[in-house]
Amino acid sequence: MLLSGVVPSHTTLLPSSSRTRAAPLRYHHVPVGRAITAPVRFRSAMTVQARDAPPVLDIESQPLKLLGRGTKLKIAVIGFGNFGQFLARTFAAQGHEVLAYSRTDYSDTARSLGVAFFDNQHDLCEQHPDVLLLSTSILSAEAVLRSLPIERLRRSTLFVDVLSVKEFPRNLFLQLLPPDFDILCTHPMFGPESGKHGWAGLPFVYDKVRIGDSDDRVERCRAFLEIFEREGCRMVEMSCAEHDETAAEIQFLTHTIGRVLAKLDLKSTPINTKGYETLLNLVQNTCSDSYELYNGLFIYNKNSTELIEKLDGALDTMKKELFERLHGIFRKQLFEGSARRSIDAGK
Ligand code: NAP
Repeated sequence: MLLSGVVPSHTTLLPSSSRTRAAPLRYHHVPVGRAITAPVRFRSAMTVQARDAPPVLDIESQPLKLLGRGTKLKIAVIGFGNFGQFLARTFAAQGHEVLAYSRTDYSDTARSLGVAFFDNQHDLCEQHPDVLLLSTSILSAEAVLRSLPIERLRRSTLFVDVLSVKEFPRNLFLQLLPPDFDILCTHPMFGPESGKHGWAGLPFVYDKVRIGDSDDRVERCRAFLEIFEREGCRMVEMSCAEHDETAAEIQFLTHTIGRVLAKLDLKSTPINTKGYETLLNLVQNTCSDSYELYNGLFIYNKNSTELIEKLDGALDTMKKELFERLHGIFRKQLFEGSARRSIDAGK
């Protein structure tokens, strides 16, 4: 059976009690990019004993050896929805080995992208990815992270997130991950709509929250960032706090205006102006993202509350200005009209 990815060589044959350091699981590396002739979904049955086994702490016996195998990474995407799939396509196209886990069964999509889909997080973690990339909704991120069997990962795993808010995952990672894991918080500031014709020139924000200083760890982080550099992204190193402050204005505001306009149910007309077309595109761009994403931008960025208040205030100010001018005109017409009528009456 030919599978893409890394396949445990003896899965169900070994009694769980024999899974000791003396007899660790062996993995066969199958070159990525070879034809996939069998489903790449790793079913629970393959590794049922691994899940029942005690935490595999054979981590130290398998040190990170990234430098010896070029810059090809084994990347596990947790949350294989809209955005996870969008990123995985490029990771795989660049020759990285991509694994994925999601609560929904995306095995067909994964197969078409050359990604190994796992329906069980334990099985995925036992593949010892170099990078574990969290791409779930902002609202579910904490529950998903807490449910991950991180004891099955290699101790030096690099955790990356792509959530559209940054202070929240940063704090979550620092709070929940053991100190040996590396942490890179990122925000690719584009999506399946805005990045459908390529990523060149699009901003990619990152914060190296905690990267160990050994050569391997530095190289692994560099190799991950290089994926985006190679696609031509505009790389912006920025603290998570700074990101959230800035992103509230550019991101939450954009999404809010798009969603407010959507409530007006705008239609394309034969006399569309360029400006109006821009509004229609904004509705399309923002509303194609899930409402959960938008909700996350509001709840998990403390700057968003202030911004929506400011927006509300700005609309009120604008309305006040307009109505004051209108009243001014009416008043003028009223008084000028009554003065004229008095003059006419006196004639
Ligand atoms: P999303 O609605 O924010 O997230 C969908 C993902 O979250 C799916 O993988 C879904 O898994 C998972 N999920 C939702 N609720 C879950 C739960 N209760 N338990 C486990 N998993 C759950 O849409 P998205 O566009 O794919 O975004 C994913 C992440 O990327 C978000 O954090 C978002 O902020 C970030 N991001 C998105 C964009 C974009 O343009 N879309 C750009 C930059 C960053 P299932 O599908 O398996 O249910």
